[in-house]
Amino acid sequence: MADRDAIVALLDQTLRTATIKDSSCNGLQVQGAGEVCRVALAVDACIEAYEKAAALRCQMLIVHHGLIWDGIKHVTGRNHQHLRFLIEHDLNLYAAHLPLDMHELYGNNIELARLLGLRDVQPFGSYHDMLIGYRGVLAEPTTASAIAARLAAKLGGKPIVLRHGPDSVKSVGIVSGGAGDMIEQAATAKLDCYVTGEPMHFTYQLAREVCANVVYLGHYHSETLGVQAIGRLLSEQLGVESVFLDIGAFSAADYTD
Ligand SMILES: [Zn+2]
Repeated sequence: MADRDAIVALLDQTLRTATIKDSSCNGLQVQGAGEVCRVALAVDACIEAYEKAAALRCQMLIVHHGLIWDGIKHVTGRNHQHLRFLIEHDLNLYAAHLPLDMHELYGNNIELARLLGLRDVQPFGSYHDMLIGYRGVLAEPTTASAIAARLAAKLGGKPIVLRHGPDSVKSVGIVSGGAGDMIEQAATAKLDCYVTGEPMHFTYQLAREVCANVVYLGHYHSETLGVQAIGRLLSEQLGVESVFLDIGAFSAADYTD
């Protein structure tokens, strides 16, 4: 068991939530119980995650995509439904968006780099004057399709691969989530393959024109590792138990198979 404020302080400090500019209101978004025995981890703040967290007797839910973005203007409709559930169940909601993408130890992108066994890992991918992703070099050259298969074997999902770059891939750039517009940055940096989350229509021609290999993992599947890494942090630092709620997301492939 840990004090809620101790967990929040550890997360705020580790993830530098006070200094990283973001449209997400990072940190404790909704206050619940003061004592936390178990923490639930999920990618998205949603009713399904709240219900599962409550059923598993968790007093805190930590998510990557929170409930509050640029503030809440009206506590009506969906906002009301979410807030009412959280408050009625005394469930703390903590969100970490960009701070969890970019973190050098617990972030989505460094975790993906670790999964691929990248070496010489360095920050990559400029967004609002911050580098939020990572780049590195594979131990052995491979193909973009093999990278997609290797990641999908661990993450699930059905990656989409655009093969317009070199057949042999050694250097890889990674930015999780909806970062298809950074394909050009990967091409400019002469990276052999770019890995991101959400496939965006305009990037189909963009990838062809800049001769890039792109692996789209799916937004959800590219962002499951960060919150799980936070679970490790809480266990190591505070001895708090956590459970990952793999709630998932739709993908185009789910509708066309
Ligand atoms: Zn995201």
